[in-house]
Amino acid sequence: MNISDVIKEFVETYKPQNKTKTDWEEPLIAFASAHDPLFLKLKTVISETHSLPTELLKDAETVISYFIPFKKEIPLSNVNGQNCSEEWAIAYIETNKLISDLNEFLSEELEKQKFKSVILPPTHNFDEQELISDWSHKHVAFVAGLGNFGVHHMLITERGCCGRLGSLITNAKITPTKRPQKEFCLYKHNETCKQCVENCIFNALKIDSFDRHRCYEVCLSNADLYSKFGLADVCGKCVCVVPCSFNDPVK
Ligand code: SF4
Ligand code: SF4
Repeated sequence: MNISDVIKEFVETYKPQNKTKTDWEEPLIAFASAHDPLFLKLKTVISETHSLPTELLKDAETVISYFIPFKKEIPLSNVNGQNCSEEWAIAYIETNKLISDLNEFLSEELEKQKFKSVILPPTHNFDEQELISDWSHKHVAFVAGLGNFGVHHMLITERGCCGRLGSLITNAKITPTKRPQKEFCLYKHNETCKQCVENCIFNALKIDSFDRHRCYEVCLSNADLYSKFGLADVCGKCVCVVPCSFNDPVK
């Protein structure tokens, strides 16, 4: 079984099969060794409570990480206004469901080959007071080599930052992806961009700081607005539409 092909095919057929409003581009997939020393470092960078792959699956060998980009129309819909667009809110909810379904499917496929796996929820696995997650998909994606962080604290991949990340842990041994040794953010590269900071009119994001509590307040007001669709505690104005929205601007 080629895991990357399975993920790509699942995403490609998801919209027609589930009649979602959201549409997605082809996903990016990367693999990290479960024993990569950077996982231990996440306990210092994020929190002591951030899990090691081997704490979640004793004989873990690989962490599979993937990025599912939204079709361009979705970020384009979220440029104007203070509230996030309906399309952005629905894309968040539908992509969380896609990630849960994809992980279930991958887990079953791995089981058919006699491999074990542990599924991580797409989101809402964080402490509501501290707003710190015990499994950060974006940091895991960084370890797996999917990209690097921007000033907006999101991961920028070869296909930008407007999409969602998912991951799962398995005891199948897969060759790790090489981590890119470069910046993907124009500010970090040569200080030629601050667009994400300018887009955050809520004073949550600055060049050298991020007020996660202020950001979460904004996200919760959008959750209220769109509660009829499900839980959409999102905003995304800092990633819509900026030089790193759809690709790696540092090439
Ligand atoms: S908008 Fe500009 S400064 Fe912000 S993360 Fe993207 S490239 Fe970096
Ligand atoms: S998600 Fe919204 S509130 Fe949070 S940093 Fe980005 S623009 Fe600011």
